[in-house]
Amino acid sequence: MLDDSQLLTVTDLKQYAYCPRVVYYERCLPHIRPRTYMMDAGKDAHEHEQDRAARRTITRYDTAEGERRFNVPLVSRPLGLRGLLDEVVFTPDGKAIPVDYKLATSAGNNHRIQLAAYALLLEADSLYRVEYGYLYLIPTRKLVKVMITPKLRDVTQTMLHQAQTMIALEQMPPPVDRVGQCAACEFRRFCNDV
Ligand code: SF4
Repeated sequence: MLDDSQLLTVTDLKQYAYCPRVVYYERCLPHIRPRTYMMDAGKDAHEHEQDRAARRTITRYDTAEGERRFNVPLVSRPLGLRGLLDEVVFTPDGKAIPVDYKLATSAGNNHRIQLAAYALLLEADSLYRVEYGYLYLIPTRKLVKVMITPKLRDVTQTMLHQAQTMIALEQMPPPVDRVGQCAACEFRRFCNDV
């Protein structure tokens, strides 16, 4: 049986949405990953942001009341997934509202999938239901509301199964066809076919 460290992480899933090959490198060839400036900067920004978030009024999250928790660990063995959620609001009427802080100026599709993955984990782990969540863009201090629709759930679950299968079979996926993305990728030197 897999231990928790072997479960796919929500961050893996976000990376998979960006480029499946990044997850292949990290999971199947984990020794090659360099530690980047952005990783350290992201960690510092998240820690700083939690102090600021604690002062935000809860009505910013479209709810009149609720209990806020920060740095919430989530794990589901049936999903084969784990993650650490920046913030979650539990409302008295049984809803959970995940909030994910991003060191980005706009919300990408991979960020939406990451938020949906947190929603799946929250529902798997409790009796709470998730209808929507937020991406908090740190550089602009903007909250972006994301509806956790059936379609977004389906896309996220499909991607989760694909990523788990890729890792289990250790199959290197094809490169992405977005040239600009590869130019900025930290794994560029390992991809000789782009
Ligand atoms: S260089 Fe391109 S194909 Fe290779 S891992 Fe990075 S984004 Fe993916």
